[in-house]
Amino acid sequence: MVSKFAALWNKDGSVQASAPRWASLRAEMRSAFPTYYSTTSDPFADMVEEAIRYLNQLKPPQPTSSPSETPGYLGGDPSGPHYGNVTQARLGENMASIVDVLQQAADLFKGMPNWNHPLVMPNVIPPANTAAIISAMMTQVFSPNIIEGEYSWDVERTEMEASAILADLIGWPTEEAGGLFTFGGSGCYFYGIKYALTSCLGMDSRCNGIRTDAKVLVSQQGHYCKQNSTDWTGLGMENFIEIDTDDVTNAMDFAHLEEVVRELHSAGTPIAAIVCTMGTTDAFAIDPIDKVRALVDELYPLANHPEGVGRPLIYADAVIGWSWLTFKGYDFTANPLGFAPTVLAEIQKNYEAISKVIHADAIGCDFHKTGWATYNCSVVMVRDLHKFQELLSRPGSAYLQARTCYNPGLYTLEVSRSGSYSMAAWATLKFMGYEGFRSILGGILELQHYLRHEVIANEPTTVCVNAADSGFVTLFRVYKTGVDAQAQYERELNDPSAKAELEANNKLQQDIADMLWQWHRDGQLHGGSYAPYISYTSGFRPTDYDDESVEPGFIYAVKAFPMNVNITPEVMDELIRLVLVARDAIEAGEVPQPNDDAGSCPVPYSKFSDIKPLECASDEAGAGGSTSDNLLSGIGRQSLKALKRLRKRRSKKA
Ligand SMILES: *Cc1c(COP(=O)(O)O)cnc(C)c1O
Repeated sequence: MVSKFAALWNKDGSVQASAPRWASLRAEMRSAFPTYYSTTSDPFADMVEEAIRYLNQLKPPQPTSSPSETPGYLGGDPSGPHYGNVTQARLGENMASIVDVLQQAADLFKGMPNWNHPLVMPNVIPPANTAAIISAMMTQVFSPNIIEGEYSWDVERTEMEASAILADLIGWPTEEAGGLFTFGGSGCYFYGIKYALTSCLGMDSRCNGIRTDAKVLVSQQGHYCKQNSTDWTGLGMENFIEIDTDDVTNAMDFAHLEEVVRELHSAGTPIAAIVCTMGTTDAFAIDPIDKVRALVDELYPLANHPEGVGRPLIYADAVIGWSWLTFKGYDFTANPLGFAPTVLAEIQKNYEAISKVIHADAIGCDFHKTGWATYNCSVVMVRDLHKFQELLSRPGSAYLQARTCYNPGLYTLEVSRSGSYSMAAWATLKFMGYEGFRSILGGILELQHYLRHEVIANEPTTVCVNAADSGFVTLFRVYKTGVDAQAQYERELNDPSAKAELEANNKLQQDIADMLWQWHRDGQLHGGSYAPYISYTSGFRPTDYDDESVEPGFIYAVKAFPMNVNITPEVMDELIRLVLVARDAIEAGEVPQPNDDAGSCPVPYSKFSDIKPLECASDEAGAGGSTSDNLLSGIGRQSLKALKRLRKRRSKKA
């Protein structure tokens, strides 16, 4: 006797016409999920293909002569973003067609920057490579959860293998080191600080909370996520101490660090972590981590701190710099990839500086920055995985069983963790190999070399201001027609009597960037072309005045971050040509109206602009530049107080 309920269903999973509406909707919904069985023509694959084709239609047509015939945004629609009606969103009454939903989803990309477009170079935002994109998409189909092996099976291998590959590049024994994929470089940093706090303050800090004002030492140019991690771990933002940076190299001033460390050591104040930035976002400054290691080993010998309690842990924020490790083993003499001699020297310099990251206890690496993987995709590497596990393990849960040998959910911050991060990184590593990474990284420097030495240098009104940096970014200043840029910049840098000119020309840099931003967004041709999308920094470096009684000024610069592989020498020519078109327009009296509040956010989103961010009592940020400046440019301004300290130490030395 078949029950009435069971009788509603047919053998193939469909329902009888007499079935209630919920049951027929449920049965229909099966076509909205991938099948559990394989099919000869896979309707899911067809739909993926269709959706990707919508995205393809958002791209501009292939240019016939120059990339600047096409705009750097998607969808041919530069208006927007359109946030005005977001608070009106409501759940629809009925189910929609998937195709409609996908079409609407694709439309959301209209107007967004097209990171693959050669004229799009505002920041360290690389487009993702196809192996990473599609492998990460695969994880969306089967939902591996890398909380534990039972839920992700061999997809877990991507985390373990990617970590072994990185450990090997770093120079750590691959059977001791390990890595955990997490939510971005700031997530890695957060892991690093938690690890450091537990190591330094002991396990009791996990039971009874952080009750000791342990310090985190980080350079003044270190990334602002020092605030996120000290704040969210409960340590408190007053507990990071900013170490001065060298005003030329932007790297941590080791003499100042040593002074601070020795002072804290003799006062018995615990230092949980010393953060070494291995490649700052703009200047690519690399802190002297080898010296930091030697200092820690001298003052806090392992013999006195067998469990690590009381001993600072060294966290390397290498999210930008890590990929230079792929030059490990490169034959810099034979130079088989054929880099130009000056570029080769820069590559070698970068590799040698980054290779010192071996001295860290934990390292953050962003694959979504200098790994050309999908967003986001970051791994925090630890030198001693066993120690990390020991320090951070929890007893687990009643509803999860450790059925495989790999169960990171017992010690990660996250509970569920997407397999897409580690899959994308692993696929990228497999695809690129040493040669791929070396060519894409070295290639950026080759193109940048052309921009700096053949384009900017040959244009009398432009000057590259970060020629000494061998990172990914070119910072340059543009002057009015007829000005000798090189001579004018020298004056602005060194001569206090040129301070007013410095400031006027700072404004010009900002205006040019704003003008280009406005042009990028207006959908019009300017100088016969679509505008490049670049940006500017308001705190590249302070001036170099000898006269200490004069407040130093700050050098603004236009910035180009050429991360995508579609950039060619011709694109660099075009970039500078269009920058000069913007400069000429400003000289002719056009005033940029950058429309930075685009989107018309409704309440409650618009109310955020009324909020004054917390400033802690001893906050120095106000002295040099606002946090929002730092957010925009990714480069912290040297505070005036810090500059004065630096000068005092120098004159003491002299
Ligand atoms: C980008 C960046 C971070 C933050 O990383 P996210 O991946 O954006 O979370 C931290 N440190 C440095 C040096 C960075 O450039």
